[in-house]
Amino acid sequence: MASLLRRLEPEAAVRAALILTGKVFPAWDERSLDVSWATIWRVVESLIPAKPTEVRRVASEGVDLGDAVRRVFEAFPRRRQATLFEEELTLGEVYAQLEAIASASGPGSRAKKEAILRSLLSRASPREAWLLVNAMVGETRLGLSEGLLIDAIAEAYGLSRQEVERAVMVTGDPAAVIEAAARGGPQAARTLRPEVFRPLRPMLAQTAETVDEALAELGGRAAFEYKLDGARVQIHARGGRVRVFSRRLSDVTRSIPDVVEAVLNGLRADEVILEGEVIAVGESGRPLPFQVLMRRFRRVNVTPELIQSIPLRVYLFDALMVDGRPLIDEPYLERRRALEDAISEPLRIVPTIVSGDPGEAGEFLERALSEGHEGLMAKGLRSPYIPGVRGKHWLKIKRAKTLDLVIVAAERGYGRRHRWFSDYYLAARDPETGEFLVVGKTFKGLTDEEFEWMTQRLREIAVEDRGSFIRVRPEVVVEVAFNEVQRSPKYPSGYALRFARIVRIRDDKSPEEADTIDRVREIYESQFGRGGRV
Ligand code: AMP
Repeated sequence: MASLLRRLEPEAAVRAALILTGKVFPAWDERSLDVSWATIWRVVESLIPAKPTEVRRVASEGVDLGDAVRRVFEAFPRRRQATLFEEELTLGEVYAQLEAIASASGPGSRAKKEAILRSLLSRASPREAWLLVNAMVGETRLGLSEGLLIDAIAEAYGLSRQEVERAVMVTGDPAAVIEAAARGGPQAARTLRPEVFRPLRPMLAQTAETVDEALAELGGRAAFEYKLDGARVQIHARGGRVRVFSRRLSDVTRSIPDVVEAVLNGLRADEVILEGEVIAVGESGRPLPFQVLMRRFRRVNVTPELIQSIPLRVYLFDALMVDGRPLIDEPYLERRRALEDAISEPLRIVPTIVSGDPGEAGEFLERALSEGHEGLMAKGLRSPYIPGVRGKHWLKIKRAKTLDLVIVAAERGYGRRHRWFSDYYLAARDPETGEFLVVGKTFKGLTDEEFEWMTQRLREIAVEDRGSFIRVRPEVVVEVAFNEVQRSPKYPSGYALRFARIVRIRDDKSPEEADTIDRVREIYESQFGRGGRV
């Protein structure tokens, strides 16, 4: 990988790294291909003049869609396309076509996307098709993890691993680091700073059971903020232009024009990167359920009626850059000061206290809960902002016990639920292998509307469809409540959740952010300590 990067021109190096890590565009890019698994498969079948059952038999041996296509292309000759080109594909050409797929819109765009895809896949070698298809569907298990890519970047451009890691944190994106290093040499990568309109990966939190535990962990004194039950946003603004990114770094600006307006009216600084939580509020000012908020976020076309019926409010809690001054290495209190100076009404900061008194913090927690919020976030006063890291500087304190799990398979339900894939296999992440291990199954918790949405979504990411059972890429995260964790031989993980029910769909979380099998074990073990149960 390092020698490949060294050989390529800067632009080609960036593209090669994207494709090899299972992406077509960087996360912050507004473009998306919008090509489903089913579309790709239809195109592949149309290229193979053999019986679909035979093609499927070969395909079923693939470990993912790209691998299935590779096997099919190796096993069968393809229909010849009436094309002028017979030469090999180049990276530049592939990208021109991918960009054309992304920009096809309006009536007839489906057919246009398929036609471009057909021409690309008719010319790709089996191995090229493997890479290309996996990049298109976002399959990242090509054996080139981000860790390896970081090593390769270091080697290719004469940087240390730490320098590359830091640059990736600051830019949120290995592709941006390659671009800087390839164009400007190692020094350009070393001096990368957070830039407006390039979202950073959000800093993440661990869990504390109580305020006492949080205080002990954070050195006896800490900031406590309301933990609002909403959607995290990273707000980038400069000179009257605003872009808002979700926790997964996708651009959500168009879904939340009322938040954008509040930013335009409340910003005192000229150039900022701020973070906060958006919640939907009812008439009394109390937060509305998360599901209601998601109705706003899933829409692209937001009508004035929708804005009025589900008004949003943003509560800010961090500043990562203000007027060109990078703040991520500054301590919490310094960043908070910068945040306070950068804004005014109608923007507001999340309710916060700084305290070393467990009684006071406990009361603050009760107040947050009684006002309808999720709990508190405890933050270390001296902690820097560490993008993308789930460290011990931020600790969430919640009352209800839930796990964020990933759906890896689903079955059709019985009776009324037969229309939908409504029974979900829930899995926790194994941080060592990156695999997802099933810890339970549930059909409880979703509304009809959500079953419908979920069925559609799972079909798009299916890797195996047997009619009443579907196996999917691990992409959809759900927050799951349960009564207890049990030891169980039923699943290879060794654990099973009792009375699991989905509390909400977490489209705002990526599977890498799901809870780990270690966390499941921790909860299992903590059950003994408290109730004395065996
Ligand atoms: P969790 O999603 O349970 O891991 O909790 C972390 C999330 O809580 C963050 O990503 C934010 O979306 C959200 N959150 C709510 N209030 C705060 C706050 N005051 N500070 C940081 N994150 C918050």
